[in-house]
Amino acid sequence: MSHVSLQKVKKVYGGQVVAVKEIDLEIRDKEFLVLVGPSGCGKSTTLRMIAGLEEISGGRMFIGDEMVNYVEAKDRDIAMVFQNYALYPHMTIFDNIAFPLKMRKVEKEEIAKRVEHAADILQLTDYLNRKPAALSGGQRQRVALGRAIVRNPKVFLLDEPLSNLDAKLRVAMRAEIVKLHRRLETTFIYVTHDQTEAMTMGDRIVVMNEGAIEQVDTPEHLYKYPETKFVAEFIGSPKMNLHQTTLVDTDEGIAVVLQGQTFLLGDEIKRRIDPAYIGKDVYFGIRPEAFNIASSPTDALTASVETIERMGSDTHVFFQLENQTWVARIDPKYPVSYGDNVTLTMDMNEVYLFDAETEKTIIQKEIVAPAVPV
Ligand code: ADP
Repeated sequence: MSHVSLQKVKKVYGGQVVAVKEIDLEIRDKEFLVLVGPSGCGKSTTLRMIAGLEEISGGRMFIGDEMVNYVEAKDRDIAMVFQNYALYPHMTIFDNIAFPLKMRKVEKEEIAKRVEHAADILQLTDYLNRKPAALSGGQRQRVALGRAIVRNPKVFLLDEPLSNLDAKLRVAMRAEIVKLHRRLETTFIYVTHDQTEAMTMGDRIVVMNEGAIEQVDTPEHLYKYPETKFVAEFIGSPKMNLHQTTLVDTDEGIAVVLQGQTFLLGDEIKRRIDPAYIGKDVYFGIRPEAFNIASSPTDALTASVETIERMGSDTHVFFQLENQTWVARIDPKYPVSYGDNVTLTMDMNEVYLFDAETEKTIIQKEIVAPAVPV
């Protein structure tokens, strides 16, 4: 079994810089887990602690059932793939892939067998006699993966392995790495700062922020049920629109006020929030796709178009509201031009609300029971 368990794992550099704050994380056997977050949030440090390349300042780390706090990197049965492929330029592709096995004094025949198997999986068979300089960026990255595969590790660790590739190749390699994971049936732990990469590759995603874990969830759940404002903003492109406002009680139900107009929360949302939040400050969030061009101004927002991005399949319309820029994703069939006034409705069952102080969601996944029994 190659599950990995982090229990209150902490990293302090030089007695001062707290890079990772006592995190708890259970990584399941054979899963593809992605660590994502902005630069400096502690992703690489976490991965390097799992690898054994960085000492743990506190807590306990398990790989399988073994506590590995004091186990050296070379004895952890993990393989790591880095951003800069770190290939040896003077060696052939065969020798580059074989290198970790030679270091471990594996027999020649066994080495040949494993290298050929890895080359076959990665479509490198025809390149084994070449030197790295004669390969494309994508092929070089595959050689780095091959060097990890030959070791039959319990766990693969990948640190931003695609960031040196151009955009097109990155997308292609994304799919290849996912296929590789399925084929190898091994635990993969993958670090990236790119939310699209995380969303398209991970079985589960860990969103990190300032050395702590914000949320661990499937891509679908992170998008639909962000537990914090940070996750809501980080996941999704274009970003969720967020605005600080107050929840108000009206004759027709709970509402938010935007530009002096009240908008009733949808029934689904209303049932899931604690009425104690009425009158309190909240962040109101709405994703760009929850806007629609309105046929009449009733219950709609009217705003002036600031910028337009035509993506082909949809159009991103940027507009000013409450002194900030908002974005709506609309059907390209609607003609919209700069300076136009657009009238938009919001799907009020697809909105998000966060406590203004704690920045945690106030929308329960389950329907809140009424305070007074009926
Ligand atoms: P990420 O991978 O999310 O970009 P890192 O794990 O590399 O973040 O870094 C987390 C924090 O730890 C950052 O503030 C970074 O400056 C700091 N840090 C990383 N490595 C070292 C080091 N060797 N010495 C001191 N501080 C470090």
